[in-house]
Amino acid sequence: MSGPSRHLESILAQAGVGQDPAWGSITTPVYQSVTFRSIGSEPRGEGYDYSRTLNPTRSALEDTLAKAEGGAGATAFGSGMAAILAVFHWGLNQGDHVVLTEDLYGGTFRILEDELRRFGVRFDLVPTSDLQAVSRAMRAETRMIFLETPANPLLQISDIQRLADLAHEHHARLVVDNTLMTFVRQRPFELGADLVVYSATKYLGGHNDVLAGAVISPDSATAERIAAIANTTGGVLGPWDAFLLLRGLKTLALRMQRQETNAHALAETLRSHPKVSRVYYPVFNETGWTIQQRQASGAGGMVSFVLKNEAWALDLRKRLRLIIPAVSLGGTESLITEPYSETHRELPEELRRKLGLLPGLLRLSAGIEDPQDLVEDLLQALEGLS
Ligand SMILES: *Cc1c(COP(=O)(O)O)cnc(C)c1O
Repeated sequence: MSGPSRHLESILAQAGVGQDPAWGSITTPVYQSVTFRSIGSEPRGEGYDYSRTLNPTRSALEDTLAKAEGGAGATAFGSGMAAILAVFHWGLNQGDHVVLTEDLYGGTFRILEDELRRFGVRFDLVPTSDLQAVSRAMRAETRMIFLETPANPLLQISDIQRLADLAHEHHARLVVDNTLMTFVRQRPFELGADLVVYSATKYLGGHNDVLAGAVISPDSATAERIAAIANTTGGVLGPWDAFLLLRGLKTLALRMQRQETNAHALAETLRSHPKVSRVYYPVFNETGWTIQQRQASGAGGMVSFVLKNEAWALDLRKRLRLIIPAVSLGGTESLITEPYSETHRELPEELRRKLGLLPGLLRLSAGIEDPQDLVEDLLQALEGLS
C-alpha cells in the first residue's frame, strides 16, 4: 500500500488493474472457482481456499472500495440488504436499541421489524435531521444510530458529524448508509462515522445490472469482524457480480457528475411548472443545504415532487417516453417511481402518511441521458395531464 496517494478518480478509473499475476491482464479476471489448491491449513498464493471466505475477483473489488472510501477494509455482499443485516449482526445484541432515520429504505425497516425484533432488538424511527429529536430518542440501551442522508425519497439532510458526536457521547456507534451520495460526494469516516454501508446496486454499480452491497470498515479489526460475519452467514457477492461492479466503479465519478447536472435541470423544470405543487431537492431545502454543503460535495442525482392532482401520478408515468417507470435508482437510465405504492410500501401506512410519503409523490432518479431530452420528456408528459 505504499506509493503516492492518488485522487479518487484515478483509483476508480483503474479499479482492479494489476490483479492478475499470471498474464498481467488489465481487468481483473472473473475467478469463477469455488475452491483453490490448498493442503491442510496452508492455502496457496494469497490465502485463497474457498470462495465464501475469499475470492480474488471479490478481493479486487473490496480493495478498491476500501481505498475509495478511505477505510481499512471492505466486504462485498450479494445485496444491500445482506450488507445491512451484517451491520446489525456486528453492532447489536439482544436487548439493544437502535435509532434510525425515519424515512428509511423500506427493506432496512423490514429487517428490524420482521427479523430482529423477535430476537429482542428494539428500534425507533426518528427524524435524524432534528438533533433534538435524536437526543430525546437515545436510551441507555441505544448502541447504534443508523443514518441515511439524504434520506430517500424526501431527501432530508442529517448532520453526520454532530450525530457521530451524539452517538459517541452515548457509547453508541454511527453507521451511515451512503448509497445516495457515495464516497465521490460524501465521506462519512472523515466526519466521525464508525461504519459505512452501501446498496452497491445503485450508484456504485450504476448500470441496473447487478445486485450488490458493501460494508466499509475504518480499521482492520472491524474489517476482520465484518468479513467473519460474511463468511459465517454466507451472503457474499459472486465473482461475476464483483467483476460487473469493478467495471461500474471505473465511471462512477463521471456518472455522478452527469446525474447531478440532470437532476438539477429536472428539479428546476419541476419547480417552475404550474402542475407541480412541491419539489424535494437538497438545493431547495435551506437548512438542509447548509449542512449538505459542509459535509458533501454535491446535491446528488435524486429529485422528488408532488403533482397538484394526486391522480396525475399514474398518468404522468404512462406518458413519459424516455424516463422509465421503474423502482431502483442511481443507474445510467432515468427512472421514476411512486414510493407510497412501490419502494416504501413496507413502511406502515400510518407512518408513510406521517412522513409525507403520500400517494402522488413521485421520485425521480436522474440517469446520464442528455439533459434537454429529459426535460422535454418531462414537459411533454406534464403537458398531457388534465
Ligand atoms: C436499495 C437500497 C437498499 C437495499 O439494497 P439492495 O441492493 O436492493 O438489497 C438499502 N439502502 C438504500 C438507501 C437503498 O437505496
